[in-house]
Amino acid sequence: MYAEVCFPFSLSQTFSYYVPQELQPQIKAGYFVVVNFRAKPAKGLVTNLSFNTQFKGKLNNIISIDLDNVIPNELWKTLQWMENYYITPMGKIAQVTLSWIFKKNISSPKKIKHIKLKIKNFDDQKLTNNQKIFINYLLQNKTNFIPLKSLQSKIKSSYSIYKQLKNKGMIIEELQSLKTNWDDFIKKSINNIVLTKIQKEVYQNIYHNFKNNNKPHFLHGITGSGKTEIYLRLAYDFISKGKSCLILVPEITLSSQIYNRFKKYFGADVILWHSKISHKYKRDAWDRMNNKDPLIVIGARSALFAPLYHLGLIVVDEEHDNSYKESEKQPSYSARDIAIIRGKFSEAMVLLGSATPSLESYYNTIINKYYLYQINERYGDALLPEVEVVNMSTIKDSFILKPILSELAINTIQEKLDKKEQVLILHNRRGFSSLRISNQPDGLLKCKRCDIILTLHQSTNQLICHHCHSKESISSINKKYNNPKISYAGYGTEQLELLLKQLFLEARVLRMDADSANSMRKQIDILNKFKNKKGDILLGTQMIAKGLDFDNITLVVVVNADLGTLIPDFKSHEKMFQLIYQVIGRAGRSNKQSKAIIQTYQPNNKVIQMATQYELKNFYNLQLNNRKDLSYPPFTRLIRIIFNSANLNECKKSASKIFNSFSKSSIPFLLGPLPCPIEKLSNKFRYHIIIKAPHLKFKNILKEINHIQNQKESLISKRVKMLIDVDANSVL
Ligand SMILES: [Zn+2]
Repeated sequence: MYAEVCFPFSLSQTFSYYVPQELQPQIKAGYFVVVNFRAKPAKGLVTNLSFNTQFKGKLNNIISIDLDNVIPNELWKTLQWMENYYITPMGKIAQVTLSWIFKKNISSPKKIKHIKLKIKNFDDQKLTNNQKIFINYLLQNKTNFIPLKSLQSKIKSSYSIYKQLKNKGMIIEELQSLKTNWDDFIKKSINNIVLTKIQKEVYQNIYHNFKNNNKPHFLHGITGSGKTEIYLRLAYDFISKGKSCLILVPEITLSSQIYNRFKKYFGADVILWHSKISHKYKRDAWDRMNNKDPLIVIGARSALFAPLYHLGLIVVDEEHDNSYKESEKQPSYSARDIAIIRGKFSEAMVLLGSATPSLESYYNTIINKYYLYQINERYGDALLPEVEVVNMSTIKDSFILKPILSELAINTIQEKLDKKEQVLILHNRRGFSSLRISNQPDGLLKCKRCDIILTLHQSTNQLICHHCHSKESISSINKKYNNPKISYAGYGTEQLELLLKQLFLEARVLRMDADSANSMRKQIDILNKFKNKKGDILLGTQMIAKGLDFDNITLVVVVNADLGTLIPDFKSHEKMFQLIYQVIGRAGRSNKQSKAIIQTYQPNNKVIQMATQYELKNFYNLQLNNRKDLSYPPFTRLIRIIFNSANLNECKKSASKIFNSFSKSSIPFLLGPLPCPIEKLSNKFRYHIIIKAPHLKFKNILKEINHIQNQKESLISKRVKMLIDVDANSVL
C-alpha cells in the first residue's frame, strides 16, 4: 500500500511513501504520520491511499502513525472541501488551518522538574522561616506535583530552599512535561441569565427548528438586542447533551470579551483559540479535545479549525464582518461559509448573527435558504440613540482649514463630559494628514512603491505608507521638493486627537487605531481603561465600531461619514452602511438619553440617509437591485484571479495567457485581463481577471480553474505570482 503525504509548505506537490504491512490496518487519509523528508524525520498529513504508485524510484517507509492525535473525520472532510473549492493544495490548507499540529515535537515534549511534599507531618521547630513558607505553599497544592520553576516568582531564593528540604528527605521530585493550567472556579448557574419575552421566543424557535431541519439559522437582532444571551443558552443546551460548541467572533479583542462572559457560566470548559494563542496551549487543548469531553471553543476565524469532537453548535457572530474572509493568500476562505460546510459534515447547528447582515446572508434569508429570527428591540430598557445629521458644507470656514468638528458636536461633547458620561468618536483615517505638493500630478504625495497616498505621522515626523510601511522623514521631503507650497490635506485621528485635547482641556482622550494599538494587549488595555471610566473620550478608526457594549457611552460622533463613498468597489456602500449603523449602535446601552451626530458633506447621500434613519430594509433592497443589474453577488459568485510581479510586461503576459486558456463560451461574464484599480503595491504591478459565475455554472467553472491551475507552471512566468480569490470581497 502507498500513501500520498503532504507537508505544511506552499508546495502543490505530495510525496509517495510505502506503508509497511503492520501499519496498513490503521492508516487512513487525514491522519498524521512521521516520515523521512529531506533526510530528516518530519510530520506529514496523508492525503490519499492506493495500491499503485506512479513513482519509479525507491520509496521510503512511513515510520509511524500519530494515533494519539487524530482530527475528527468531519474536519478532514471540511479541509478536502476547501481544497477543491478554493483551488489550493492540501499542504497549503494544512499549513493555514493546522499549523500548530506541525509545530509539535516529534520526540516527546521537553520535561521539567516537578516537586511535591513527601511527608505530612514534620517538626516545625527544626525549620527556618523561609522553609516553612515553602512547605506551606506546597501544602496548598495538596497532592499535585508543581513545576519547581513556578516557585521562583513566588518564594525568595526558592531554589536553595528546595535543595535544603531535599537533603532533609522532605521532597519527592519527578520529570513531567509542563501542562497548561485549566483553572476552574465556581460557575454561575445558567438560570442567572434572564431572557426577555422576545429573546425567549427566538431561543425556543431556533431550538425547535433545529430538530426539524438542518439549514443554517440567521439571528438578525438590532445593536444591543442581547444576542449573546441567546448564544449562551443554546451553548448550555448542547453542552448538557454532551456536545461541543464553537463560537466565532471577528476580532481577537472581541474574543477575549466574550470568552470572559462564557467563562462565568462554563468555567474551565471554555477554551480561547486564535492566532495569538501559543502552539503549546493549543496542543494541550487538543489533548482535552481528544478526550471527547464537551467543550466550548471561542475565537477569531482560525478557531473554526479547532479539532473538536461531537460538534453540536457553531455560532458566527457579526457574520457580516470582513475579517472572516482571507483575501491576501490562498486558501482565500470565508470562515462564515466554511462554518456552514463544517456544520453540514458534523450535523451541527449553525447560527449566524448580526445587526447588519452581509448582503449575501440577507438574500439567503429572503430565498429561504436560512431560517430568519428577528429582534427589533433593545435588551432591558435601553433606547436607540436619537440621530442628528450635520451638513458640513453649509458651515462657514471659521479657521484657515475647513472645520473638523461642528458647533453642535463640540457643544454636545461638552454637555456629556459635564454629566460624566462618555463619548465615542469615529474617524476612519489614521495618522495626521496627507501632504499636498503642487508639482505632483494629482497633488497628493504617494508612496513610490505603491499606488497609495502617504500619511504624515506627526508623532514620528514621518510619511508612512499604510500598505508597505515604507517611511520617509518630513525633512527629506522638504529638501526634495524644496518649495513652499507643501500643505496639509485632509486629517487623520492624530490631528483630531490634538484638536480634542485643545478643545476639551479637562477631558481624558484615548485614541485607538492601528498606530496607538498595534498589539492585542494594547487594544485590550485601551478598551479596559475606557470601560473602567479612566477615559472620557474614545477616538478611533473602525476598530471602535465593533461589539463595544459600554453602558456609559451616551454620544457617538462620526466625524466624516463621507469616507468610503468614493471607493470604487462593489461592496463599499455595504461596508459604509454597516460601519455607520454599527457605530451609532454603540450609544444608548442604558436608560440614559443618548445621541449620535453624523457629520457629512453629502447629506443627500442615500447610504448615509438610510444608515442614520435605521432604514435597513430599504437599503438592502436598493443594494440588491444594484447588484442584480451589475451581475454581482449574491446573484453570481465572484472569482478574481490576481497576478503580481515586479515586471510589468511579464505580469500582463501571464494574465493574458491564463485569460486565453479559459473556454470563453462557457463563462458569460469573464472580464480582463486589466490592471487592478490599485495598480502597484510594494513595487509589484497588479493585473486581474474577474469572473462573475452564474450559480448554475459555478461548479463547472471551478473545475476549469482547477484544470488551469494544474498547468500554471507551463503558462506563466516563475516571476509572476497568481492568487485565486473565490467569493472575492473586493475588486480593488
Ligand atoms: Zn507603499
